[in-house]
Amino acid sequence: MTRTTRILDDPEEAAAVIRSGGLVAFPTETVYGLGADALNPDAVAAVFAAKGRPGDNPLIVHVAEVSGVSLVCDAIPASASALLAAFSPGPLTVVVPRSDRVSPAVSAGLDTVGVRIPGHPVAQALLRAAGCPVAAPSANRSGRPSATTWEAVLADLDGRVDAVLKGERPQVGIESTVVDCTGVVPAVLRAGSVTLEQLRRVVPETLARGEQTAASPGTRHPHYAPRARVRMVQSPSPRDTAAYIGWTRPAAGYKLEAPVSGLEEYAHALYDFFRQCDRAGVAEIDCEWPSSSGIGRALQDRLRRAAAASVA
Ligand code: AMP
Ligand code: MG
Repeated sequence: MTRTTRILDDPEEAAAVIRSGGLVAFPTETVYGLGADALNPDAVAAVFAAKGRPGDNPLIVHVAEVSGVSLVCDAIPASASALLAAFSPGPLTVVVPRSDRVSPAVSAGLDTVGVRIPGHPVAQALLRAAGCPVAAPSANRSGRPSATTWEAVLADLDGRVDAVLKGERPQVGIESTVVDCTGVVPAVLRAGSVTLEQLRRVVPETLARGEQTAASPGTRHPHYAPRARVRMVQSPSPRDTAAYIGWTRPAAGYKLEAPVSGLEEYAHALYDFFRQCDRAGVAEIDCEWPSSSGIGRALQDRLRRAAAASVA
């Protein structure tokens, strides 16, 4: 399945690759996505193969504007319409009933589908030029930290995808908020930069993650993990075999440090720092434990899961 991976600057060229059934990694405001025509079952199967993604972990479908959601869903729930109107384009994925036009493989056999309207200008240009819904999970080998630079995409997927479309670095740095809108009330499946408080301003009944019984399939799999062991710490304790990310300035003594000034910067820097630590051969990464305000809740989730995966 070796492919020649081209580096592209032109969304039109990248869109032609998607339309012909190829795989294109592209920047969004959350992380880089690995895109394929969502209506082409062979292209969708190739996405799972390129990533080594378990077949039971559904893909998010990306469209350019709210009206495009009807390409993948025949009966859009009122809560999904309200949340999309408030937060799109942006880092919010809504799970809605899946139209028969979308291959079941996109959704890992579920009768629902996750849809998102990314705001990143390069993602927007690609989706408009492609003219089809684009299924795109994060552009990393399965289990690895999501890619937030085109160089990180290449490190994981060179020779496994047809093109990497370059663009301004994702502003947010961690994956979208996922909200299930197929129940009586919406329920958060994955925390992200759109917070529960923001969602509740639009639909007050929205349930927090874990308040409904059905978990998102993807949350069963190990995720977001560097090779180094991730430790969640309250304060720095410098060692020359370890790295540190946080806002408390440690005394000298860590091999690598990523000082961050707040939660947004922490999220923006996290995955790239994980990858930098792996290149430097660091054994452990001390991650200062963030508060749960704003994007902090999503950061806590990613850190917990990276820590669990790196111990397993
Ligand atoms: P990724 O694209 O790699 O960020 O992963 C997509 C996330 O969205 C995973 O956690 C999936 O489980 C979740 N997701 C996508 N589609 C659905 C769906 N139809 N139902 C529930 N969760 C979904
Ligand atoms: Mg992912």
